[in-house]
Amino acid sequence: MKTDIRHRDGLARSGTLMDKERTILFPAVIDTDTLFPSLRPMKYTNVPLSADPVFVAAHLKQTGSQPVTIHPALDNPAESKDCVMVANWHTALPNPRQYVNWLVALKEKTPPDTLWYAPACALPSNAHILCYSGFDLFDYRAVDLSTAQKIFCTAEGEFPVPAIKGAGCSCEGCRTGSLKDHNRNALERELVTIRMFITHGQVRELVEARSRFHAPHVAIMRHLDNRYEFMEQSVPVVRNSTLRANSGESLNRPEVRRFRQRVLDRYIPPPADVAVLLPCSAKKPYSLSQSHRRFRNTIASRAHELIVTSPLGLVPRELETVYPAMHYDVPVTGYWDAEECAVVSAVLAHYFRKHQYRRVIAHLEGGAFKVAEMAAEACGITLEYSCRDHPAGDEALANLDLALAGERRLKDDRLHGMCSYQFGIDLDTRSFSVRGRFPEFFYSRNNLQCFSIDTATGMLRPTIDGWNLIPDGYRVTIDNFVPEGDILVPGVENADPQIREGDEVLVVGARAIATGRAALPAGEMLRSRRGVAVRVRKIKRV
Ligand SMILES: [Zn+2]
Repeated sequence: MKTDIRHRDGLARSGTLMDKERTILFPAVIDTDTLFPSLRPMKYTNVPLSADPVFVAAHLKQTGSQPVTIHPALDNPAESKDCVMVANWHTALPNPRQYVNWLVALKEKTPPDTLWYAPACALPSNAHILCYSGFDLFDYRAVDLSTAQKIFCTAEGEFPVPAIKGAGCSCEGCRTGSLKDHNRNALERELVTIRMFITHGQVRELVEARSRFHAPHVAIMRHLDNRYEFMEQSVPVVRNSTLRANSGESLNRPEVRRFRQRVLDRYIPPPADVAVLLPCSAKKPYSLSQSHRRFRNTIASRAHELIVTSPLGLVPRELETVYPAMHYDVPVTGYWDAEECAVVSAVLAHYFRKHQYRRVIAHLEGGAFKVAEMAAEACGITLEYSCRDHPAGDEALANLDLALAGERRLKDDRLHGMCSYQFGIDLDTRSFSVRGRFPEFFYSRNNLQCFSIDTATGMLRPTIDGWNLIPDGYRVTIDNFVPEGDILVPGVENADPQIREGDEVLVVGARAIATGRAALPAGEMLRSRRGVAVRVRKIKRV
């Protein structure tokens, strides 16, 4: 059995599993008795998830081959490349808090490059949350049990068979009158959907939608969000897809929380003493929208521009291309609910306590206006107002222009802001020149290109000369060899713990250095034994 993880999206993965003669796409439902013949004589040997260590040690049996049984109370015998099995996982589903505690414990002690099998657990309606939790392999037992109970399974939930008479499902099973085939088909179809969402980096969006039908699923998602330190490690720092912030849970999505946190912890603003708070725009990056063109023309570099937006909080102008600022979509009604107001105003208050401005002008309306007022009161600053509605209208812009009369012009220093956010450094950008057309900018120093903005991810891409200006961090150390392409996991000696999937990194070895993008978070580079660690862009012998 050979597995290849092709895509990761948080804890969820998709890829291929090669058996003797067939290739299976996972997450998958398969007849596991054929895949794992050693399981057949093991029937009725399940040990409950809640069993204590003494009981587990006495009764838990291993098959001696694949899969390897893991248990929350057991020292983990699994190794890289194993398929691991968590029996009775369906009993965890009704207990969200326990589910998450067990899951975190199991994930932390199991090598990441293992395939996860949950026997007798998957239904079309719970497969989304199981895959989101990092399970890859399922069997037909739970749907077959539903068939025996005369239950009709759909991705949205289970219905008693008499209630769906005449519902008109067009699947092969329903055409031939086989409930068993329908239920198996429904699970297979749902896994096709899940694989599609994982491939597109939108499994979270699928889970936010599907979980509405089952309170425990919503609770599992929320409890996992509360395990921020754990979840954040597996969430990529960039994606090519839209982040759809269409539910209340978006406020606590790890990638959204990470953005807010990095703006507050890492970001260094320019030396401006006037700030203007601006509303967001549907078009991203904001600068390309009609309204922001007007704002920028009016402000004419006489103030630091800060965009107030939910769920990201505060987006300084320099960070407008950074994921997910350039990639999020929210339903806009003008109304902000109490939690959005509380979270976003707390970000503003924290920011203005940390960075003092002589003047802060609120050029806002509606919910964003209210949030700015809440923040000003919380951190004790006095806001000036240049409008109360229609911020992009002629009257409001004339007011803003007047308010900024006589203020000195500021250098547009996108590079400095982005470097602080992405690498945590205070780069001296005085001798830099910029060329290109927004957002595709190239930054050079002494005629050497050092950085460019990647238009897909909106992040900075340093060249080797650029890395010379980043004193430490985001390094992957390799052994004494010259890489010929991507860096594979076995070649990695060490990796900066703050590296996440999608980060720009510098590969450092005794015989070569290389620029590239991390394909895995640091923890997985060090705990795995196979796969690509860094997708290399440029190699230089030393
Ligand atoms: Zn059907």
